[in-house]
Amino acid sequence: MSDKRSLATVWLDGCSGCHMSLLDMDERLLQLLSSEFDLVYSPLVDNKVFPAGVDVTLLEGAVSNEEDLRKLNTVRSRSRILVSLGDCAVTANVPSLRNALTVNQVLERVSAGQLPRQPEDVPLLCAQARPVHNFVKVDVFVPGCPPSADTIHFLLTELAAGRTPNLSQLTRFGA
Ligand code: SF4
Repeated sequence: MSDKRSLATVWLDGCSGCHMSLLDMDERLLQLLSSEFDLVYSPLVDNKVFPAGVDVTLLEGAVSNEEDLRKLNTVRSRSRILVSLGDCAVTANVPSLRNALTVNQVLERVSAGQLPRQPEDVPLLCAQARPVHNFVKVDVFVPGCPPSADTIHFLLTELAAGRTPNLSQLTRFGA
C-alpha cells in the first residue's frame, strides 16, 4: 500500500486558470506526484467519483449554483485538508461580477432571448456567487488570480511535510 498522501483537485465556478498554474509547476509536479502525493481525483485524471478519506483537496472557483454546492459538501465531508485555491474560491472574484443582477437578469443577458430551463438545461443558479468559506470550513486560503506555480509548489511541499502553510510565506511569492 502506498504511503503517499492522497491529493484531489476540484473546480467549481472558475476559469481553470488555477489548474493551469498547477500544471505550470512542470517537472516539480511530477516530482511531487512520484514521491509525496497520489492524485486520486481531478479534472486531470479519469476518476468520476470523489473518494472518501482524501488527505488534501485543492478547490478552485466560487459557489454559483446548486450543483457546485452539492459537490462542495461531498468534497468537504471526504477531505481532511480543504484548500481554497485562488481568488474565485477565496473571495468569489470574477463569478461575483454578476451579483448586482438577479438570476433572471443574468439568464436573459446570456441567452439571446431563449431562457434556459433550470435545472433541465443549466444547474439552478444561486442568487449570488459566493466564496467557499461561506458554506464550509476551509483549512488553508491561497489568494491569487491565479496563484503562481511557485505558490502552489510551496503549498504542496509544506502540506507534504505535515506543516500548515504560512500565508505570509505564501504571499512572498507574489500570489
Ligand atoms: Fe480563473 Fe483567477 Fe478564478 Fe483562478 S482565481 S479560476 S485564474 S479567474
